[in-house]
Amino acid sequence: CGIVGYIGDLDAKEILLKGLERLEYRGYDSAGIALRNEKGITVIKEKGRITDLRAAVDSTVLASTGIGQTRWATHGVPNQTNAHPHQSTSSRFTLVHNGVIENYHNLQKEYLQDVQMISDTDTEIIVQLVEKFVNDGMTTETAFRHTLSLLHGSYAIAMLDADEADTIFVAKNKSPLLIGVGDNFNVVASDAMAMLQVTNQYVELHDQEVVIVRKQAIELMTLDGETIDRAPFTAELDM
Ligand code: GLU
Repeated sequence: CGIVGYIGDLDAKEILLKGLERLEYRGYDSAGIALRNEKGITVIKEKGRITDLRAAVDSTVLASTGIGQTRWATHGVPNQTNAHPHQSTSSRFTLVHNGVIENYHNLQKEYLQDVQMISDTDTEIIVQLVEKFVNDGMTTETAFRHTLSLLHGSYAIAMLDADEADTIFVAKNKSPLLIGVGDNFNVVASDAMAMLQVTNQYVELHDQEVVIVRKQAIELMTLDGETIDRAPFTAELDM
């Protein structure tokens, strides 16, 4: 299983699909991507191989921001509905996740009694909680960090907000995730190999860190919102 993300000026779908293909060795049962352009966010997801996903992607959709995931099901059978990305009820928030949220059932009971869940996954709870806290008045960044502070378990996460065009919200705990930095673009990947075709400069993420990824900048912080400074490293190019 793995995660990719891209924000820049190029055709995101090709970069995301290639990245997911390079993560295939990790194993998976489903795959999906979300593409964002001026018309909104389009989610394409399929049970099965990346080639099936590729065939389902409309090649005419041009987008320069997107996220993608290969899923190894832990909660909810492998099918199209349970494949990632997952969206909140209003479709404003779109999220991919690798890992396991151990307390998802308690969080659902405590905060989301009124929410009709779409999938059988532990993951959906994350995106529904963000929407709930934003509806309660938090900014997306605060709602994202607050949601993460409630989660027990492992996660590598990338999230899009339909109302915030130039941002991918990223977080990591006990599941691998890196930020790749470029000139006028940035990427997200479970390992550098997925994105070596676009950059060899990576910023390491530690557990319980959040990154606000934009086209021209990344902002690394703790779950409490305290800024972290960390220089990129150069990934080895021999593949
Ligand atoms: N627990 C999540 C699910 O079953 C994510 C699994 C994964 O890491 O791919 O959908």
